[in-house]
Amino acid sequence: MIRKFISRVLRRKPASTANEPAILAVAQHGLRREQISRGGQNTVTTLQENGYQAYIVGGAVRDLLAGLTPKDFDIATNATPEQVRHCFRRARIIGRRFQIVHVSIGAETLEVTTFRGHHGEHTGNKAQTDEQGRVLRDNVFGSQEEDAARRDFTVNALYYDPSSEIITDYHHGVADLRQKTLRMIGDPKTRYREDPVRMLRAVRLAAKLGLTIDPAASRPIREMSELIDNVPPSRLFDEMLKLLTSGHALRCVAQLREEGLHKGLLPLLDVILEQPLGERFVLLALAATDRRVEEGKPISPGFLFATLLWHEVLAKWTLFKSRGEPATLALFLAMDEVLDVQAGKLAITRRIAGDIKDIWALQPRFEQRSGKRPYGILEQPRFKAGYDFLLLRAESGEVEQEISVWWSDFLHANDEGRAAMLLPPAAGETKKRRRRRRTPAATRQYPNAPQ
Ligand code: ATP
Ligand code: MG
Repeated sequence: MIRKFISRVLRRKPASTANEPAILAVAQHGLRREQISRGGQNTVTTLQENGYQAYIVGGAVRDLLAGLTPKDFDIATNATPEQVRHCFRRARIIGRRFQIVHVSIGAETLEVTTFRGHHGEHTGNKAQTDEQGRVLRDNVFGSQEEDAARRDFTVNALYYDPSSEIITDYHHGVADLRQKTLRMIGDPKTRYREDPVRMLRAVRLAAKLGLTIDPAASRPIREMSELIDNVPPSRLFDEMLKLLTSGHALRCVAQLREEGLHKGLLPLLDVILEQPLGERFVLLALAATDRRVEEGKPISPGFLFATLLWHEVLAKWTLFKSRGEPATLALFLAMDEVLDVQAGKLAITRRIAGDIKDIWALQPRFEQRSGKRPYGILEQPRFKAGYDFLLLRAESGEVEQEISVWWSDFLHANDEGRAAMLLPPAAGETKKRRRRRRTPAATRQYPNAPQ
Protein backbone atom coordinates (compact mmCIF):
# COMPACT_ATOMS: atom_id res chain seq x y z
CA MET A 1 0.00 0.00 0.00
CA ILE A 2 2.72 2.47 1.06
CA ARG A 3 4.89 1.35 -1.81
CA LYS A 4 2.01 1.92 -4.19
CA PHE A 5 1.46 5.41 -2.76
CA ILE A 6 5.15 6.31 -3.04
CA SER A 7 5.38 5.07 -6.57
CA ARG A 8 2.27 7.05 -7.47
CA VAL A 9 3.75 10.25 -6.03
CA LEU A 10 7.04 9.62 -7.74
CA ARG A 11 5.37 8.89 -11.02
CA ARG A 12 3.16 11.90 -10.82
CA LYS A 13 5.85 14.31 -9.85
CA PRO A 14 7.61 14.70 -13.16
CA ALA A 15 4.27 14.99 -14.93
CA SER A 16 3.06 17.77 -12.67
CA THR A 17 6.33 19.69 -12.57
CA ALA A 18 6.94 19.42 -16.31
CA ASN A 19 4.83 22.52 -16.93
CA GLU A 20 5.59 24.34 -13.70
CA PRO A 21 7.01 27.72 -14.61
CA ALA A 22 10.08 29.14 -12.96
CA ILE A 23 9.03 32.00 -10.66
CA LEU A 24 11.90 34.45 -10.63
CA ALA A 25 12.18 37.20 -8.05
CA VAL A 26 13.83 40.53 -8.79
CA ALA A 27 17.09 39.34 -7.21
CA GLN A 28 17.29 36.69 -9.93
CA HIS A 29 16.58 38.90 -12.93
CA GLY A 30 17.09 42.53 -11.87
CA LEU A 31 14.13 44.02 -13.73
CA ARG A 32 12.58 46.87 -11.69
CA ARG A 33 9.04 48.20 -12.13
CA GLU A 34 10.39 51.72 -12.82
CA GLN A 35 11.74 50.39 -16.11
CA ILE A 36 8.19 49.80 -17.31
CA SER A 37 6.46 52.80 -18.90
CA ARG A 38 3.81 54.64 -16.92
CA GLY A 39 1.11 53.44 -19.29
CA GLY A 40 2.33 49.85 -19.00
CA GLN A 41 2.29 49.93 -15.21
CA ASN A 42 -1.12 51.64 -15.07
CA THR A 43 -2.72 49.19 -17.48
CA VAL A 44 -1.48 46.19 -15.53
CA THR A 45 -2.55 47.56 -12.14
CA THR A 46 -5.98 48.63 -13.43
CA LEU A 47 -6.62 45.12 -14.73
CA GLN A 48 -5.37 43.61 -11.47
CA GLU A 49 -7.58 45.93 -9.42
CA ASN A 50 -10.52 44.68 -11.45
CA GLY A 51 -9.69 41.14 -10.41
CA TYR A 52 -7.84 39.96 -13.52
CA GLN A 53 -4.35 38.63 -14.04
CA ALA A 54 -2.16 40.92 -16.09
CA TYR A 55 1.50 40.96 -17.09
CA ILE A 56 3.94 42.81 -19.26
CA VAL A 57 4.90 40.24 -21.84
CA GLY A 58 6.93 39.57 -24.95
CA GLY A 59 9.40 41.92 -26.56
CA ALA A 60 9.47 44.50 -23.76
CA VAL A 61 10.53 42.04 -21.03
CA ARG A 62 13.04 40.45 -23.38
CA ASP A 63 14.55 43.77 -24.47
CA LEU A 64 14.80 45.15 -20.91
CA LEU A 65 16.54 41.99 -19.71
CA ALA A 66 18.94 42.30 -22.64
CA GLY A 67 19.68 45.93 -21.76
CA LEU A 68 17.79 47.41 -24.73
CA THR A 69 15.05 50.03 -24.75
CA PRO A 70 11.72 48.43 -25.72
CA LYS A 71 9.72 49.92 -28.59
CA ASP A 72 6.44 49.39 -26.77
CA PHE A 73 4.88 47.50 -23.89
CA ASP A 74 2.50 44.65 -24.59
CA ILE A 75 0.22 43.23 -21.96
CA ALA A 76 -1.28 39.76 -21.58
CA THR A 77 -4.33 39.10 -19.40
CA ASN A 78 -7.00 36.53 -18.62
CA ALA A 79 -9.69 39.18 -19.20
CA THR A 80 -11.56 38.88 -22.49
CA PRO A 81 -11.30 41.80 -24.96
CA GLU A 82 -14.77 42.99 -23.87
CA GLN A 83 -13.78 42.87 -20.20
CA VAL A 84 -10.57 44.75 -20.91
CA ARG A 85 -12.46 47.43 -22.78
CA HIS A 86 -14.73 48.02 -19.80
CA CYS A 87 -11.79 48.67 -17.48
CA PHE A 88 -10.55 51.72 -19.40
CA ARG A 89 -11.90 55.02 -20.55
CA ARG A 90 -10.00 55.02 -23.82
CA ALA A 91 -9.88 51.49 -25.20
CA ARG A 92 -10.99 49.89 -28.42
CA ILE A 93 -11.06 46.38 -29.71
CA ILE A 94 -9.35 45.82 -33.02
CA GLY A 95 -9.90 42.63 -34.93
CA ARG A 96 -6.93 41.52 -36.88
CA ARG A 97 -5.64 37.99 -37.09
CA PHE A 98 -5.96 38.01 -33.31
CA GLN A 99 -8.46 40.22 -31.51
CA ILE A 100 -6.64 42.70 -29.30
CA VAL A 101 -7.48 45.82 -27.33
CA HIS A 102 -5.69 49.12 -27.76
CA VAL A 103 -5.65 51.02 -24.49
CA SER A 104 -4.61 54.68 -24.64
CA ILE A 105 -3.00 56.23 -21.60
CA GLY A 106 -1.64 59.72 -22.12
CA ALA A 107 0.28 59.60 -25.38
CA GLU A 108 0.94 55.86 -25.04
CA THR A 109 -0.97 53.06 -26.73
CA LEU A 110 -0.77 49.69 -25.04
CA GLU A 111 -1.66 46.46 -26.78
CA VAL A 112 -3.61 44.17 -24.47
CA THR A 113 -4.03 40.55 -25.54
CA THR A 114 -6.14 37.87 -23.91
CA PHE A 115 -4.26 34.62 -23.17
CA ARG A 116 -4.47 32.38 -26.23
CA GLY A 117 -5.49 28.76 -25.89
CA HIS A 118 -4.39 25.56 -27.53
CA HIS A 119 -5.78 24.55 -30.79
CA GLY A 120 -5.70 20.93 -31.77
CA GLU A 121 -7.76 17.78 -31.86
CA HIS A 122 -7.43 17.12 -28.15
CA THR A 123 -9.23 20.30 -27.20
CA GLY A 124 -11.69 20.21 -30.04
CA ASN A 125 -10.60 23.75 -30.95
CA LYS A 126 -9.16 23.35 -34.36
CA ALA A 127 -7.54 26.43 -35.79
CA GLN A 128 -8.37 27.28 -39.35
CA THR A 129 -5.35 26.59 -41.55
CA ASP A 130 -4.54 26.70 -45.24
CA GLU A 131 -3.37 23.63 -47.10
CA GLN A 132 0.28 24.22 -46.06
CA GLY A 133 -0.73 24.30 -42.40
CA ARG A 134 -0.57 28.06 -42.02
CA VAL A 135 -2.86 29.23 -39.25
CA LEU A 136 -5.44 31.61 -40.65
CA ARG A 137 -7.55 32.42 -37.61
CA ASP A 138 -7.38 31.44 -34.01
CA ASN A 139 -9.15 33.38 -31.39
CA VAL A 140 -9.38 30.68 -28.77
CA PHE A 141 -8.76 31.95 -25.27
CA GLY A 142 -6.75 29.91 -22.80
CA SER A 143 -4.64 29.84 -19.67
CA GLN A 144 -1.36 31.64 -19.11
CA GLU A 145 0.49 28.38 -19.59
CA GLU A 146 -1.20 27.77 -22.93
CA ASP A 147 -0.51 31.35 -23.93
CA ALA A 148 3.19 30.83 -23.22
CA ALA A 149 3.29 27.70 -25.36
CA ARG A 150 1.77 29.60 -28.29
CA ARG A 151 4.48 32.24 -28.37
CA ASP A 152 7.32 31.77 -30.82
CA PHE A 153 10.65 31.89 -28.96
CA THR A 154 11.45 31.12 -25.34
CA VAL A 155 12.82 34.64 -24.78
CA ASN A 156 9.43 36.01 -25.90
CA ALA A 157 7.42 33.97 -23.41
CA LEU A 158 8.33 35.85 -20.23
CA TYR A 159 5.59 37.41 -18.07
CA TYR A 160 6.55 40.28 -15.79
CA ASP A 161 4.30 41.51 -13.03
CA PRO A 162 5.31 45.08 -12.13
CA SER A 163 3.39 44.85 -8.82
CA SER A 164 5.43 41.94 -7.45
CA GLU A 165 8.43 42.36 -9.80
CA ILE A 166 8.23 38.61 -10.49
CA ILE A 167 8.93 37.00 -13.84
CA THR A 168 7.01 33.85 -14.73
CA ASP A 169 9.10 31.81 -17.12
CA TYR A 170 7.59 28.60 -18.60
CA HIS A 171 10.25 27.80 -21.18
CA HIS A 172 13.63 28.77 -19.68
CA GLY A 173 13.61 32.02 -21.59
CA VAL A 174 15.73 33.88 -19.03
CA ALA A 175 18.40 31.19 -19.16
CA ASP A 176 18.32 31.15 -22.98
CA LEU A 177 18.74 34.91 -23.06
CA ARG A 178 21.74 34.65 -20.74
CA GLN A 179 23.21 31.96 -22.95
CA LYS A 180 22.48 34.10 -26.01
CA THR A 181 20.36 31.47 -27.69
CA LEU A 182 17.18 32.03 -29.66
CA ARG A 183 15.21 28.83 -29.13
CA MET A 184 11.85 27.97 -30.62
CA ILE A 185 9.09 26.79 -28.31
CA GLY A 186 7.91 23.40 -29.59
CA ASP A 187 8.89 21.75 -32.86
CA PRO A 188 10.44 24.40 -35.15
CA LYS A 189 9.14 22.85 -38.38
CA THR A 190 5.57 22.77 -37.12
CA ARG A 191 5.86 26.31 -35.84
CA TYR A 192 7.24 27.59 -39.19
CA ARG A 193 4.47 25.78 -41.03
CA GLU A 194 1.84 27.43 -38.81
CA ASP A 195 3.37 30.83 -39.50
CA PRO A 196 6.29 31.19 -41.93
CA VAL A 197 6.89 34.77 -40.76
CA ARG A 198 8.55 33.19 -37.72
CA MET A 199 11.56 32.46 -39.96
CA LEU A 200 11.97 36.18 -40.53
CA ARG A 201 11.36 36.95 -36.89
CA ALA A 202 14.12 34.49 -35.98
CA VAL A 203 16.57 36.34 -38.21
CA ARG A 204 15.53 39.78 -37.01
CA LEU A 205 15.47 38.98 -33.30
CA ALA A 206 18.80 37.14 -33.44
CA ALA A 207 20.40 40.14 -35.16
CA LYS A 208 18.78 42.67 -32.83
CA LEU A 209 19.69 40.86 -29.62
CA GLY A 210 23.00 39.38 -30.74
CA LEU A 211 21.67 35.84 -30.22
CA THR A 212 22.56 32.66 -32.05
CA ILE A 213 19.61 30.85 -33.55
CA ASP A 214 19.48 27.40 -32.00
CA PRO A 215 20.54 24.88 -34.72
CA ALA A 216 17.22 23.03 -34.38
CA ALA A 217 15.45 26.26 -35.31
CA SER A 218 17.84 27.42 -38.03
CA ARG A 219 18.31 24.05 -39.78
CA PRO A 220 14.82 23.77 -41.30
CA ILE A 221 14.74 27.36 -42.60
CA ARG A 222 16.53 26.68 -45.87
CA GLU A 223 14.20 23.87 -46.94
CA MET A 224 11.08 25.69 -45.73
CA SER A 225 11.93 29.14 -47.05
CA GLU A 226 9.47 28.96 -49.92
CA LEU A 227 6.56 28.83 -47.46
CA ILE A 228 7.12 32.59 -47.27
CA ASP A 229 5.31 32.73 -50.62
CA ASN A 230 2.03 31.92 -48.86
CA VAL A 231 2.22 34.85 -46.48
CA PRO A 232 -0.07 37.76 -47.43
CA PRO A 233 2.03 40.52 -49.06
CA SER A 234 0.91 43.17 -46.60
CA ARG A 235 2.12 41.14 -43.62
CA LEU A 236 5.41 40.46 -45.37
CA PHE A 237 5.82 44.15 -46.06
CA ASP A 238 5.29 44.98 -42.37
CA GLU A 239 7.80 42.37 -41.31
CA MET A 240 10.39 43.43 -43.88
CA LEU A 241 10.01 47.02 -42.79
CA LYS A 242 10.55 45.99 -39.16
CA LEU A 243 13.63 44.07 -40.22
CA LEU A 244 15.09 46.88 -42.30
CA THR A 245 14.42 49.57 -39.69
CA SER A 246 15.55 47.46 -36.73
CA GLY A 247 18.86 49.28 -36.56
CA HIS A 248 20.52 46.01 -37.59
CA ALA A 249 19.53 45.88 -41.23
CA LEU A 250 23.04 44.98 -42.40
CA ARG A 251 23.28 42.08 -39.99
CA CYS A 252 19.75 40.97 -40.84
CA VAL A 253 20.35 40.92 -44.58
CA ALA A 254 23.63 39.05 -44.08
CA GLN A 255 21.78 36.51 -41.95
CA LEU A 256 18.94 36.26 -44.48
CA ARG A 257 21.52 35.35 -47.12
CA GLU A 258 23.14 32.86 -44.80
CA GLU A 259 19.82 31.16 -44.11
CA GLY A 260 18.92 31.19 -47.82
CA LEU A 261 15.87 33.31 -47.05
CA HIS A 262 16.56 36.43 -49.09
CA LYS A 263 15.41 35.04 -52.41
CA GLY A 264 11.69 34.92 -51.78
CA LEU A 265 11.48 38.31 -50.13
CA LEU A 266 12.50 41.11 -52.34
CA PRO A 267 12.35 39.52 -55.74
CA LEU A 268 15.67 40.06 -57.44
CA LEU A 269 17.36 41.30 -54.28
CA ASP A 270 19.51 38.20 -54.59
CA VAL A 271 20.45 39.18 -58.14
CA ILE A 272 21.27 42.72 -57.10
CA LEU A 273 23.38 41.53 -54.22
CA GLU A 274 25.39 39.46 -56.61
CA GLN A 275 26.40 42.42 -58.79
CA PRO A 276 29.38 44.21 -57.24
CA LEU A 277 28.01 47.73 -57.81
CA GLY A 278 24.50 46.79 -56.73
CA GLU A 279 25.74 45.04 -53.62
CA ARG A 280 27.89 48.01 -52.67
CA PHE A 281 24.99 50.38 -53.12
CA VAL A 282 22.54 48.28 -51.06
CA LEU A 283 25.07 47.69 -48.30
CA LEU A 284 25.92 51.38 -48.10
CA ALA A 285 22.21 52.22 -47.93
CA LEU A 286 21.59 49.69 -45.16
CA ALA A 287 24.60 50.91 -43.19
CA ALA A 288 23.31 54.49 -43.51
CA THR A 289 19.88 53.34 -42.29
CA ASP A 290 21.37 51.57 -39.28
CA ARG A 291 23.34 54.71 -38.43
CA ARG A 292 20.19 56.84 -38.59
CA VAL A 293 18.33 54.44 -36.29
CA GLU A 294 21.20 54.57 -33.84
CA GLU A 295 21.12 58.37 -33.90
CA GLY A 296 17.37 58.28 -33.29
CA LYS A 297 16.59 59.89 -36.66
CA PRO A 298 13.44 58.93 -38.56
CA ILE A 299 13.62 56.39 -41.36
CA SER A 300 11.71 56.90 -44.56
CA PRO A 301 10.40 53.57 -45.87
CA GLY A 302 10.19 55.10 -49.35
CA PHE A 303 13.89 55.92 -49.33
CA LEU A 304 14.74 52.46 -48.06
CA PHE A 305 12.81 50.57 -50.73
CA ALA A 306 13.98 53.03 -53.39
CA THR A 307 17.57 52.02 -52.60
CA LEU A 308 16.82 48.29 -52.49
CA LEU A 309 15.22 48.34 -55.92
CA TRP A 310 17.33 50.99 -57.67
CA HIS A 311 19.73 48.71 -59.48
CA GLU A 312 16.83 46.78 -60.88
CA VAL A 313 15.43 50.04 -62.23
CA LEU A 314 18.83 50.96 -63.63
CA ALA A 315 19.13 47.67 -65.50
CA LYS A 316 15.67 48.03 -67.03
CA TRP A 317 16.19 51.71 -67.81
CA THR A 318 19.33 50.87 -69.77
CA LEU A 319 17.50 48.08 -71.57
CA PHE A 320 14.58 50.29 -72.61
CA LYS A 321 16.91 53.07 -73.76
CA SER A 322 18.84 50.56 -75.85
CA ARG A 323 15.55 49.69 -77.55
CA GLY A 324 15.23 53.31 -78.64
CA GLU A 325 12.83 54.66 -75.99
CA PRO A 326 13.49 58.31 -75.03
CA ALA A 327 15.41 58.51 -71.73
CA THR A 328 12.58 59.91 -69.61
CA LEU A 329 9.96 57.53 -70.87
CA ALA A 330 12.37 54.62 -70.50
CA LEU A 331 12.93 55.54 -66.85
CA PHE A 332 9.23 55.70 -66.06
CA LEU A 333 8.58 52.41 -67.82
CA ALA A 334 11.40 50.82 -65.82
CA MET A 335 10.06 52.26 -62.55
CA ASP A 336 6.56 50.94 -63.15
CA GLU A 337 7.75 47.52 -64.16
CA VAL A 338 9.97 47.09 -61.11
CA LEU A 339 7.24 48.24 -58.73
CA ASP A 340 4.66 45.97 -60.41
CA VAL A 341 6.85 42.90 -60.00
CA GLN A 342 7.47 43.85 -56.41
CA ALA A 343 3.79 44.44 -55.65
CA GLY A 344 2.96 40.77 -56.12
CA LYS A 345 5.19 39.74 -53.24
CA LEU A 346 5.41 42.71 -51.01
CA ALA A 347 2.45 45.07 -50.77
CA ILE A 348 4.25 48.40 -50.89
CA THR A 349 1.56 50.92 -49.99
CA ARG A 350 0.49 53.49 -52.59
CA ARG A 351 1.90 56.36 -50.59
CA ILE A 352 5.29 54.71 -50.23
CA ALA A 353 5.31 53.77 -53.92
CA GLY A 354 4.73 57.48 -54.65
CA ASP A 355 7.72 58.45 -52.50
CA ILE A 356 9.89 55.85 -54.22
CA LYS A 357 9.01 57.16 -57.67
CA ASP A 358 9.67 60.76 -56.64
CA ILE A 359 13.15 59.83 -55.45
CA TRP A 360 13.97 57.87 -58.59
CA ALA A 361 12.54 60.48 -60.94
CA LEU A 362 14.78 63.17 -59.48
CA GLN A 363 17.96 61.26 -60.30
CA PRO A 364 18.42 62.16 -63.97
CA ARG A 365 17.51 65.76 -63.14
CA PHE A 366 20.65 66.10 -61.04
CA GLU A 367 22.61 66.05 -64.27
CA GLN A 368 20.98 69.34 -65.30
CA ARG A 369 23.19 72.03 -63.91
CA SER A 370 22.58 75.00 -66.16
CA GLY A 371 20.08 77.84 -66.38
CA LYS A 372 17.13 77.81 -63.97
CA ARG A 373 16.87 74.08 -63.64
CA PRO A 374 18.97 73.48 -60.53
CA TYR A 375 16.85 76.06 -58.67
CA GLY A 376 13.70 74.20 -59.66
CA ILE A 377 15.18 70.96 -58.37
CA LEU A 378 15.99 72.55 -55.00
CA GLU A 379 12.30 73.45 -54.69
CA GLN A 380 11.08 69.87 -55.12
CA PRO A 381 9.37 68.55 -51.99
CA ARG A 382 11.44 65.36 -52.09
CA PHE A 383 14.70 67.16 -52.88
CA LYS A 384 16.45 66.14 -49.64
CA ALA A 385 15.65 62.45 -50.10
CA GLY A 386 16.63 62.58 -53.77
CA TYR A 387 19.88 64.33 -52.88
CA ASP A 388 20.75 61.79 -50.15
CA PHE A 389 20.05 59.11 -52.71
CA LEU A 390 22.43 60.80 -55.17
CA LEU A 391 25.16 60.85 -52.48
CA LEU A 392 24.81 57.10 -52.06
CA ARG A 393 24.98 56.54 -55.79
CA ALA A 394 28.19 58.55 -55.95
CA GLU A 395 29.65 56.79 -52.93
CA SER A 396 28.95 53.40 -54.48
CA GLY A 397 30.72 54.46 -57.68
CA GLU A 398 27.63 54.41 -59.89
CA VAL A 399 27.84 58.10 -60.81
CA GLU A 400 30.76 60.51 -60.81
CA GLN A 401 31.62 62.00 -57.41
CA GLU A 402 31.90 65.30 -59.24
CA ILE A 403 28.07 65.51 -59.60
CA SER A 404 27.34 64.95 -55.93
CA VAL A 405 30.10 67.36 -54.89
CA TRP A 406 28.62 70.00 -57.22
CA TRP A 407 25.18 69.56 -55.66
CA SER A 408 26.54 69.72 -52.11
CA ASP A 409 28.34 72.96 -52.96
CA PHE A 410 25.28 74.36 -54.74
CA LEU A 411 23.06 73.51 -51.79
CA HIS A 412 25.31 75.31 -49.33
CA ALA A 413 26.31 78.28 -51.50
CA ASN A 414 24.73 81.76 -51.29
CA ASP A 415 22.90 83.35 -54.25
CA GLU A 416 26.05 84.71 -55.88
CA GLY A 417 27.94 81.49 -55.34
CA ARG A 418 25.12 79.51 -56.93
CA ALA A 419 24.93 81.79 -59.97
CA ALA A 420 28.70 81.42 -60.47
CA MET A 421 28.45 77.64 -60.33
CA LEU A 422 25.94 77.16 -63.13
CA LEU A 423 27.31 75.31 -66.11
CA PRO A 424 26.87 76.64 -69.65
CA PRO A 425 23.84 75.11 -71.38
CA ALA A 426 24.73 71.93 -73.20
CA ALA A 427 24.52 72.11 -76.97
CA GLY A 428 20.94 71.74 -78.21
CA GLU A 429 19.49 71.95 -74.69
CA THR A 430 16.89 74.62 -75.46
CA LYS A 431 15.61 72.79 -78.46
CA LYS A 432 15.42 69.58 -76.50
CA ARG A 433 13.41 71.25 -73.79
CA ARG A 434 10.76 72.48 -76.16
CA ARG A 435 10.48 69.07 -77.73
CA ARG A 436 10.22 67.34 -74.35
CA ARG A 437 7.43 69.62 -73.21
CA ARG A 438 5.26 68.13 -75.82
CA THR A 439 6.00 64.52 -74.82
CA PRO A 440 2.95 62.97 -73.22
CA ALA A 441 1.97 61.09 -70.07
CA ALA A 442 5.14 60.70 -68.06
CA THR A 443 5.66 64.32 -67.10
CA ARG A 444 2.02 64.85 -66.30
CA GLN A 445 1.75 61.72 -64.23
CA TYR A 446 4.81 62.21 -62.09
CA PRO A 447 5.46 65.47 -60.31
CA ASN A 448 9.23 65.02 -60.33
CA ALA A 449 9.59 63.87 -63.90
CA PRO A 450 12.58 65.32 -65.70
CA GLN A 451 11.39 68.23 -67.83
P1 ATP B 1 9.50 43.79 -31.53
O1 ATP B 1 8.45 44.55 -30.76
O2 ATP B 1 10.90 44.11 -31.22
O3 ATP B 1 9.19 43.77 -32.97
P2 ATP B 1 8.24 41.54 -30.36
O4 ATP B 1 8.75 40.17 -30.02
O5 ATP B 1 7.67 42.36 -29.26
O6 ATP B 1 9.41 42.27 -31.10
P3 ATP B 1 5.66 41.77 -31.50
O7 ATP B 1 5.24 41.62 -32.93
O8 ATP B 1 5.45 43.05 -30.80
O9 ATP B 1 7.19 41.38 -31.49
O10 ATP B 1 4.97 40.59 -30.71
C1 ATP B 1 4.80 40.55 -29.31
C2 ATP B 1 4.88 39.13 -28.79
O11 ATP B 1 3.88 38.32 -29.41
C3 ATP B 1 6.19 38.42 -29.11
O12 ATP B 1 7.19 38.69 -28.16
C4 ATP B 1 5.78 36.97 -29.08
O13 ATP B 1 5.66 36.50 -27.77
C5 ATP B 1 4.40 37.03 -29.69
N1 ATP B 1 4.44 36.84 -31.15
C6 ATP B 1 4.55 37.79 -32.09
N2 ATP B 1 4.53 37.28 -33.32
C7 ATP B 1 4.41 35.95 -33.16
C8 ATP B 1 4.32 34.86 -34.06
N3 ATP B 1 4.39 35.05 -35.37
N4 ATP B 1 4.18 33.62 -33.52
C9 ATP B 1 4.11 33.44 -32.20
N5 ATP B 1 4.19 34.42 -31.31
C10 ATP B 1 4.34 35.67 -31.77
MG1 MG C 1 6.62 44.32 -29.42
